[in-house]
Amino acid sequence: MMRHKPLTRACLLAVGLAVATGPAVAGAGHNHNTNVAQAKTSEITIGAQPVAGKITMLIGVGGFSGGNVAVLPGPDGLLIVDDKLEAFSEKLTTALMPFGDGVPKFVLNTHWHFDHTGGNKRFAEAVIIAHDNVRKHMAVDQDFKALNKTIPASPPEALPDVTYNDRMTVHFNGEEIQLLHLPGGHTDGDTVVYFKTSNVLHLGDLFFNGMFPFVDVAHGGSALTLARNIRDITGRFPADAKIIPGHGSLATMADLEAYLDMLTSTTMFVQSAVMEGKDLKAIQVQGFPEQWKKWEWPFISQAMWIDLIHQSLNK
Ligand SMILES: [Zn+2]
Repeated sequence: MMRHKPLTRACLLAVGLAVATGPAVAGAGHNHNTNVAQAKTSEITIGAQPVAGKITMLIGVGGFSGGNVAVLPGPDGLLIVDDKLEAFSEKLTTALMPFGDGVPKFVLNTHWHFDHTGGNKRFAEAVIIAHDNVRKHMAVDQDFKALNKTIPASPPEALPDVTYNDRMTVHFNGEEIQLLHLPGGHTDGDTVVYFKTSNVLHLGDLFFNGMFPFVDVAHGGSALTLARNIRDITGRFPADAKIIPGHGSLATMADLEAYLDMLTSTTMFVQSAVMEGKDLKAIQVQGFPEQWKKWEWPFISQAMWIDLIHQSLNK
């Protein structure tokens, strides 16, 4: 039911995040990231994986390059979902060349995080579309306490040009692209992108495939709402839809259901422990039942995930 992630991928991802973002997140009791050598940007490549219909996924190979990208090529031009870390803008442009001229006409951002919007500056000529709160956060400096870092405001040309509140549809290259805002899961500005014609979802960071997710509690995210939103998605879209996660390998609805199972069980576990009067430290020392431990990876240790759930309960 649950697929094992190759350990190397999770490690590289985490190491990359640590380097890309400065100081590593200190999950209480765990701090795997600090002593691991990081793959150099020059050694990391961007690979293309056909998904279904007209959609291709671009994924970092050999290290962390930012979130996964969806590409929709066609006679109208290029549309992409998310555009990785800024340091990979050049490589992303090169990776887009086989699909056209490497210059997208549309960029959709699933949320404001810099590992999903880093290429906006490079692709400023495109029409950039995102939820209202994405532009709001990107327009000003953000105190990102979870990463011990201030994320500087993006220049005006990198901000979304078109923002929406609840839902919107884009028609491009013969594809119907549905954007649906599900509030309060990973952040307060998450968009689910559904390529209806090709039957492909891009879930942004609502979905870390096979790994405990990061939840940006300071920007409106909540582990409990995330679990609700994932349940909503499993009921709303076709069972045979292919799924591009924010991080991790290409997925199916079965993978998303395994993730939902983990979210539901681990959030309930922390909730029950709190109701029994245990404090955060005691829950972290106790740890999850054995079956959930394999979802840990260096960036989000078990202790960190317990902390994120605990913070979500106290919101
Ligand atoms: Zn994110």
